[in-house]
Amino acid sequence: MALREIMKFGDDILRKKCRTVTAFDDKLATLLDDMVQTLASADGVGLAAPQVGILRRVVVVDIRDGKGTFELVNPEIISSEGSQLGDEGCLSAPGEWGRVERPMRVTIKAFDRHGKEFTVKGDGLLARAFCHEVDHLDGILFTDRIKPGLPKG
Ligand SMILES: [Zn+2]
Repeated sequence: MALREIMKFGDDILRKKCRTVTAFDDKLATLLDDMVQTLASADGVGLAAPQVGILRRVVVVDIRDGKGTFELVNPEIISSEGSQLGDEGCLSAPGEWGRVERPMRVTIKAFDRHGKEFTVKGDGLLARAFCHEVDHLDGILFTDRIKPGLPKG
């Protein structure tokens, strides 16, 4: 395992659309291991592959609630309900915060590192983290979603 460098806002790679993972191989396992380690080391709640310079649909999420780290390959939001307004930041934008509206609950369909499909539900902070990370896979940053007219932070 190795720590990977986290790309910062302004890097073009964060604006690109990521490709679907088709090979559930050792390379994917290494990427996931490195992302989990990089996320923990950076003290974040989520990390998407483009943030470490890899244009693949892979994210890891850990909101530190004791439930461990979710590894999501090719994640898709298949349903969402409600809404929440809260402060959001990003490991690619240290010190930046903004108020972003997200669904209160989401259901995600994804694959694990071995290619097995599963669904996971999240609410509150977990729903926010899932949505934030899935956005990264399409080149969308949280600053794109800050509600105009609302105070920052
Ligand atoms: Zn982010």
